[in-house]
Amino acid sequence: MSAGIVKDQVVTFHYTLRDKEGNVLDQSVGGDPLAYLHGHHNIIPGLETHLTARNVGDKLEVHVTPENGYGAYDPEKCFLIERAQLPQVDLEPGMALELHADDGETLMAAIIAVDDKAVEVDANHPMAGKDLFFEVEIMAIRAASQEEVAHGHVHGPDGHHHH
Ligand code: ZN
Repeated sequence: MSAGIVKDQVVTFHYTLRDKEGNVLDQSVGGDPLAYLHGHHNIIPGLETHLTARNVGDKLEVHVTPENGYGAYDPEKCFLIERAQLPQVDLEPGMALELHADDGETLMAAIIAVDDKAVEVDANHPMAGKDLFFEVEIMAIRAASQEEVAHGHVHGPDGHHHH
């Protein structure tokens, strides 16, 4: 009898993520499962909390509210950028744009609208403000290497991937 998932273990799981209307937003099923280091905030808190003490083979359904997911939707993260400040390539609504703030931080934003003078962007996380419904199946659990614990993240499914 295993005590289940604890801090500093690498957990591999398959998931399907749906919104409250039941639309699939993201899934690992059909591809590689996701591996993460438990207890290091590698995944959203609302999901990580529910995986604690679970075992291989466990299947669970988890409802994550925005506060425990990607945060509330922040209208101030929607703003205009002068067209002249952006690369002179075709920009269209729906495209993702990498923005570089003055403090050196990189921000991903989605383009909402474009005209000759300005581009309206939304830098909220695409899942901000959403209730998320996960179906999870735990595929594997192993101890993390010392290096993984020191780095605070997983080095591939077998722990030997270097970056
Ligand atoms: Zn690393």
